[in-house]
Amino acid sequence: MIKRIFVLLIVFEVFTACNEDKQEETINPKTVSFDTDQNSSLMFQDNEPIAVMTSEARTYSIAQIIRVKAVDAKNIEVSNFAPCDIENATILATIEGKQVQLFKIKKIRAHATQTMKYPFVDGTNLFLDTDNKKVDLSQYKTTGIDPTKISFDFTGDSEILLKLKKLKALKWTIHYYDYDPNNDPNNNWEPLKAKDIRRFSGLMLNMGIVFVSDQFKQAFLNEEIIGNDGKTALTMAEKEQVYNDILIHPRFDCGKCTNVSGLGGGSTLGYAEHILHDYIKIDAGDITAHEIGHCVGFNHDSNMTYPKTINNVSTGISPVMSRINTQFFNGVLFIATIQNYYKPADFQ
Ligand SMILES: [Zn+2]
Repeated sequence: MIKRIFVLLIVFEVFTACNEDKQEETINPKTVSFDTDQNSSLMFQDNEPIAVMTSEARTYSIAQIIRVKAVDAKNIEVSNFAPCDIENATILATIEGKQVQLFKIKKIRAHATQTMKYPFVDGTNLFLDTDNKKVDLSQYKTTGIDPTKISFDFTGDSEILLKLKKLKALKWTIHYYDYDPNNDPNNNWEPLKAKDIRRFSGLMLNMGIVFVSDQFKQAFLNEEIIGNDGKTALTMAEKEQVYNDILIHPRFDCGKCTNVSGLGGGSTLGYAEHILHDYIKIDAGDITAHEIGHCVGFNHDSNMTYPKTINNVSTGISPVMSRINTQFFNGVLFIATIQNYYKPADFQ
């Protein structure tokens, strides 16, 4: 009798072990690609109306460069706001405080956008949470999910995804804006074109990855920064505050200026053709940082805009930006590069 129970136990254990293996195997996140004209369309193309490209619907957070947006209870829109392809990303969804791996993207091409059904509406019941534990979302299959009850994020460990994840320290909302729709010759703006937006999208990524870097932070905090009175040096605490103000700047309305290299203040941010053309190949940090200095509240008496010569050294945010930009070029640390940018003709 004892022997028989023992045998049954072994059989039972083998059976449950097999069952567990089987469950692990069946939970494969849905994998999608947005890499052809058949499975996605492209934003910011030359034939797209400027009103669409500058609409609020095209506003994105630099922290969420792969933007997933609930269209309604059953559909989402997936968009890539980077001017380069991104591969092997995992889209995460947080539903009532629980985060699940919603689906995987094998490849999303530069500036691609596509609407799709939620995988749990479209036949998948079981998902994995971030600890690879099973989560059943079949309760949402027929009802879908209230768009206000779900939020999205992305993850992945490719080189570009690791860089994009660093941008989560930034609070920048990015919106493209045409400051000169009538091509008025009496202002310092010019009409915004698709090509300007495509290049600007790379410029913001490259500027962002420098600002969040330890190299920039340390160099900036070590720099002598003069305030708006033109003479008083900021304390370390004040410099930390200014650095933080750059990271948490809420919004940039990006446009194209002319006659001057850049225009900035509050949410207004403009760069001229030569900056949009050059930034990907050579350092344009003196201009790009100057305008960010204006955006966070500094005037021309401060070296948060134009540099000041202190002890025979050019000092201020612009020289810091130029020095770190040079390190980023030498180390191939930028996000958008001439190699991965999807329309090389934009820089010819
Ligand atoms: Zn200025």
